[in-house]
Amino acid sequence: MKFIDIANIDIKSGDGGPGHVSFRREKFVAKGGPNGGNGGKGGDLIIEGDPQLSTLLDFKYARKYEAENGIPGGKNLCTGRNGRDKVIKVPVGTLVKNAETGAIIADIVESGQKEVIAKGGAGGKGNAEFKNSVNQAPRYAQPGIPGVEFNVTLELKLLADVGLVGFPNVGKSTLISVISAAKPKIADYHFTTLVPNLGVVKIAESKSFVVADIPGLIEGASEGKGLGHQFLRHVERTRVLVYMLEAFSEDVVSDFETLKKELYKFNPEMEEKEKLICINKTDAVDDIKKKELESLRFEGSIKPILISAVSHVNVESLKNRIWDILRPEDRKEVIG
Ligand code: GDP
Ligand code: MG
Repeated sequence: MKFIDIANIDIKSGDGGPGHVSFRREKFVAKGGPNGGNGGKGGDLIIEGDPQLSTLLDFKYARKYEAENGIPGGKNLCTGRNGRDKVIKVPVGTLVKNAETGAIIADIVESGQKEVIAKGGAGGKGNAEFKNSVNQAPRYAQPGIPGVEFNVTLELKLLADVGLVGFPNVGKSTLISVISAAKPKIADYHFTTLVPNLGVVKIAESKSFVVADIPGLIEGASEGKGLGHQFLRHVERTRVLVYMLEAFSEDVVSDFETLKKELYKFNPEMEEKEKLICINKTDAVDDIKKKELESLRFEGSIKPILISAVSHVNVESLKNRIWDILRPEDRKEVIG
């Protein structure tokens, strides 16, 4: 089972700048020679792996990426400047394909890996380059070579940054649907497998993360029912676990302890993850109960976040708390 994010973008490398046609014109030179300069090369279109990115969400908004054209040649043998390259940053793990043929153009597997996807066109030669013994005054120059333009498919196997855990019916699926900016597609779905529910959450431009709720994580999951390697990879990657509890429970603290035990039995790695404790369905309890819940401290010090997924209460602040843990460096910038 694979969760994939797919985005289609149009790319174009820069056109080569045209060569220039001109002649020297000096006061005492009767017949000036040709002095048209060469055009600059068009910019390359480059794709680079960026470890700070984990989804293709940004590409759903911006779809056209162009490198700069080469600058035309000028008179007095002036060579046009080369066009600037366009670097498109993608998450590590992104497969770059030609959208039409499906051919793989690049496989971005490392951070900082750069691949030229489309080369910029060469600049044209100016008329100065065409002067020879036969033709002392050529009146022509080359045009630049056009850039390459095509449609590219970006494909990324998604792994969860955040795991949402809780007993059935606490509202995990509801929360994911409320905070998701996009739903990944599922490829190779086998009905015997328990299907995690994934969503891509947007914080701001180039700031997004993947959240997964794993249905049936508790019931029977520790016996490994239908959970494959892909799921274990999700667990490995997950940095934060959001423990979801229900506001109207008799004893949320003991719910939390039970949940934790089940989870650690299922996979001891879960113990290493950062925790956020979220109490959902607060719309269904009165203010006294809410106050009581607010004053609770889990594991001696963790303050719960009270939300209502259906009425979207405090959901933004939960998103931001998650982001603070995923990218503490961002937080420093803000305080800063
Ligand atoms: P999951 O099993 O954890 O994925 O839970 P679901 O998201 O399927 O929700 C279970 C039930 O709880 C559904 O009937 C939801 O409408 C309801 N629910 C979810 N969030 C809230 C909430 O914030 N307040 C209330 N009152 N009900 C909620
Ligand atoms: Mg569910």
